[in-house]
Amino acid sequence: MIKDKLQRPLHDLRISVTDKCNFRCQYCMPAEIFGPDFKFLNKNEILSFEEIERVAGIFSELGVKKLRITGGEPLMRKDVAKLIGRLLQIKGIEDIGLTTNGVLLVKYAQDLYNAGLRRLNISLDALNNDIFQKMNGRGVKSEIVLKGIEAALKTGFSIKVNMVVQKGVNDTEIIPMAEHFRKMGVTLRFIEFMDVGNSNGWNWDQVVSKKDIFEMLSKNFTLEPVDPDYFGEVAKRYKYKDSEAEIGFITSVSESFCSTCTRARISADGKFYTCLFAGKGHDLRSLLRNCDDDKQVHTQIADIWQNRKDRYSDERVEGATTSLNKNKIEMSYIGG
Ligand code: SAM
Repeated sequence: MIKDKLQRPLHDLRISVTDKCNFRCQYCMPAEIFGPDFKFLNKNEILSFEEIERVAGIFSELGVKKLRITGGEPLMRKDVAKLIGRLLQIKGIEDIGLTTNGVLLVKYAQDLYNAGLRRLNISLDALNNDIFQKMNGRGVKSEIVLKGIEAALKTGFSIKVNMVVQKGVNDTEIIPMAEHFRKMGVTLRFIEFMDVGNSNGWNWDQVVSKKDIFEMLSKNFTLEPVDPDYFGEVAKRYKYKDSEAEIGFITSVSESFCSTCTRARISADGKFYTCLFAGKGHDLRSLLRNCDDDKQVHTQIADIWQNRKDRYSDERVEGATTSLNKNKIEMSYIGG
């Protein structure tokens, strides 16, 4: 097991399999920037399944046990279920999850399950269609995602629903979403709007903090804290008193959790990032394409991790405006 400069082990790897998405969420891929002329990655620039498998195998030797497949919208990558089936064969990989907007789940849930995937995080920011259609930038109704959720549940998946909360945009949906998923017995997680990338016009005024969300929920429900399942668990979890359903909070803005961050990320074109808010990645694609010796790749990845010092969210909370202004990588590219 390797550790970084702040004694954080490398446990999780998030792999972005595409930079393309069928949504244009204003907070992630605003349509005015990611328009018809936007140049997405070419096929040959994206890591092949063989390259992803190889690099995931090397990461697993370094201590990674959990993989998350993401994007862009990962279900837009052809045959992603086959990739997952292959990744599940890697020695040391104990768990794979996939994050999706759910639009293509009716079509692919069974294939993903047959490939061995068991866990899905599905993003849904509102039930109300006026709000949701505006937010996703493609006019997709919430029913489409709800059908995807239903299909996944029927197939046998364990599901968490993720809702990014933005002040004045969808904060009126906090209670209806909580009520809906409590009744369904599905975990709902509230994600604080984060300053990822440079294109979403983020500022503190648009953030609804965990504290504010919790206060709103407490007026409607009785919530009890749930202990974390493992070191570095990202969500702060609560359970409804009268139901087994849970809610969670991803508080990277109001209560940062850099000190327990064990996550590495690889973009679709094979750049290795040691922080979601990084400005620069390390080019693994060239390394993989020019070097047949896994040991060399292993050594370089280990070296990058062992020199990791990132604690961007802590610095933001501490008020470091210099880090706020830095050039950051877009979420759709680095992978959520
Ligand atoms: N397309 C997939 C999806 O929608 O889940 C996977 C990629 S998406 C980038 C992963 C997650 O990041 C989604 O839950 C999305 O809502 C969240 N996300 C994107 N930009 C964000 C931001 N600025 N702040 C908080 N969460 C964000």
